[in-house]
Amino acid sequence: MTEYTLRGTVVTPSELISHGQVEIANGRIMYAGPRRQPLGEAFDHGDRLICPGLIDVHVHGGAGHDAMDRDPDAVEAISGYLAAGGVTGFLATTQTAPSGELLEAVRRLAAAAEAGLGGARLLGLHLEGPYLSEEKRGAQHGDHIRAADTGELEALHDAADGWMKVMTLAPEAPGALDAVAWLAERGVVASAGHTDADYMTALEAFGRGLSHVSHLYNGMRGLHHREPGILGAALTDGRVSVELIADGLHVHPAALRLAALLKGPAKTVLVSDSIKPAGLPDGEHEYGSRRVTLRDGLAWLPGGVIAGSTIRLNDAVRVMVEEAGLSVAEAVQMASTTPARVLRLTPGKGRLSEGSDADVTVMDWRFNVEETIVGGETVYRGAE
Ligand SMILES: [Zn+2]
Repeated sequence: MTEYTLRGTVVTPSELISHGQVEIANGRIMYAGPRRQPLGEAFDHGDRLICPGLIDVHVHGGAGHDAMDRDPDAVEAISGYLAAGGVTGFLATTQTAPSGELLEAVRRLAAAAEAGLGGARLLGLHLEGPYLSEEKRGAQHGDHIRAADTGELEALHDAADGWMKVMTLAPEAPGALDAVAWLAERGVVASAGHTDADYMTALEAFGRGLSHVSHLYNGMRGLHHREPGILGAALTDGRVSVELIADGLHVHPAALRLAALLKGPAKTVLVSDSIKPAGLPDGEHEYGSRRVTLRDGLAWLPGGVIAGSTIRLNDAVRVMVEEAGLSVAEAVQMASTTPARVLRLTPGKGRLSEGSDADVTVMDWRFNVEETIVGGETVYRGAE
């Protein structure tokens, strides 16, 4: 079907249009606005929310698969799993690993991005590590954390063949500030994460081109009123955008609200940080060389460390609205328009407007996903 119309409450997402419609032709949006004569067949979703497709820029895995798995079907399975959470585009996120393993994963993922997937579209790569802080490593493998090395960076960038969009590093790691400048010069977003950087180091990194902070609050020192650290710097400096793991557990809803109010919807990016066992039942699961226990919506490593989350992005939108008190338009913007813009993903993503890609997520008012559309094609349909 090349031409059709969706009817419902249109979240552009800067505004909500009740009794609105979105017209789609040949994988593009032709119109988003008040109801009028439909283009092609009309599909009526009642008052349900018709949103720009959600974009998750921090995804390690899900449904029992990891982005770094050698299994060539792993990333396809993750793509399908994400589509059921309303995600139409994502950045596959690597973890700290030995150089050879990392290079191999980057090559494999770049090839998958080139080839295309059946669910959520792989929009590129987010390299988390290996230039991180040992103290703030969280679930990252401490053994493979190392000093930043431009030679390795160059090899990774080459292997990614244009698909490297973000690298998370600790600005205080040896060589990291030069790496920030190197990345910024090549249009790759340098992001701070798993970092013990103090306030002054953070400002220095922003000055060198660091423009994003990965999972704000998690994997960094807390805010102290005499030494606000990178957290205080990120909250108050207009140059940087921030990610929030909005599961309501990694970060208290009041802290989510605090960050969202200070940064605003244009600089706040909701992420899942979902990991391999996300979507599997509670209990013990294999997680690389380790075991992880899923309990009460969290993934625990031995020793009481929280690994990434088990949510998908529709859940993050729900938490921001129902627990952090944001509007639907603000929360949807943080999960679509803002990630597309601040991480410089393909133009045409993240909004419902004429000429945009027809990536659309239809949800009810509790953010349960009814339908996920990528490039005009339905890739997921929820139970009616
Ligand atoms: Zn992390």
